[in-house]
Amino acid sequence: MSETNDAPLQCLIIGSGPAGLSAALYAARANLAPIVLSGMDLGGQVANTDAIENYPGFPEGIEGPDLVDLFQKQAERFGAEVVFDSATGVDFSERPFKITTYAGEYLAETVIVTTGASPRLLDVPGEKELTGRGVSYCATCDGHFFQEQDVIVVGGGDSAVKEALFLTRFANSVTIIHRRDKLRAGILLETRAKENPKVKFIWDSVVTEIIGEDAVRAVRLKNKKTGEETEHPTDGVFVFIGHIPNTELFEGQLDMNEQGYLISDRHMRTSIPGVYAAGEVTDDHFQQIVISAGMGAAAAMEAVEFLEEN
Ligand code: NAP
Repeated sequence: MSETNDAPLQCLIIGSGPAGLSAALYAARANLAPIVLSGMDLGGQVANTDAIENYPGFPEGIEGPDLVDLFQKQAERFGAEVVFDSATGVDFSERPFKITTYAGEYLAETVIVTTGASPRLLDVPGEKELTGRGVSYCATCDGHFFQEQDVIVVGGGDSAVKEALFLTRFANSVTIIHRRDKLRAGILLETRAKENPKVKFIWDSVVTEIIGEDAVRAVRLKNKKTGEETEHPTDGVFVFIGHIPNTELFEGQLDMNEQGYLISDRHMRTSIPGVYAAGEVTDDHFQQIVISAGMGAAAAMEAVEFLEEN
């Protein structure tokens, strides 16, 4: 760890998802000896994903944790160091930049922000109280608790449908509750879901309350077209309604758009020279592992160039 009186690091990477670990690989191969702050979850969202079928080079697909492991090993092979710690504060007002963590403090000449995004919450009564007691945001983590049970999945995008299909491995039935009458998910996933006898759909409906005392018992639904309210019994509620970027730490220091995503240009430069942003923390559109990895590599290449010029 680099105390404030040590020589500053050449490159510090905040976050350890595909963007962070790809940035680490490229920075390490350029001899920057980068340190990666892992955050609470090494690997980020990918670590909680099962079969990934669209990352090139794995024609049979690969499990998320296995992909993270390979990313990490490859970056470490060239001298990157992954530290199990999280940034708690940053000061980008002058170089070297100062990054405070739970364990101490780092000085760094360049910083690559790859803090990703977290699941968006439903924000309805019962959700907070019953999280971990039937409400979940991670099918890979919690699916096995619902053997032979009936669960619902909220959302209509790729995540909702993909995770609903995963949950059919355990549950008796998986009901997808979507607020419209048409999925946002891609056609391949939609077809798989519609062909799976365990998957059911409730259209045009939103969850207005999650009901249960010690465990989830039901959800209250409201039909958006008719206004009708019903109670739908269920053992589990899996929420996949998009993400919010993890950018609280950078408020007032880096420019963000209205949704809170960091603004970066095609060179991954943020509003502060020497600070780069890559992956889902700055990508409100694609949100794909391969694209995040590419952005991380680009950010590291730019950091190398910046250090040469400054
Ligand atoms: P998303 O594409 O933004 O979809 C979010 C879904 O949640 C939408 O169907 C949205 O409804 C619904 N929603 C949003 N807020 C809601 C609320 N408050 N109450 C109820 N429903 C709400 O997010 P995502 O599915 O997490 O996917 C994110 C990105 O990752 C996408 O680019 C996706 O393609 C990608 N992805 C790809 C794969 C893959 O296997 N290829 C897997 C996972 C994710 P509306 O449709 O009405 O807006």
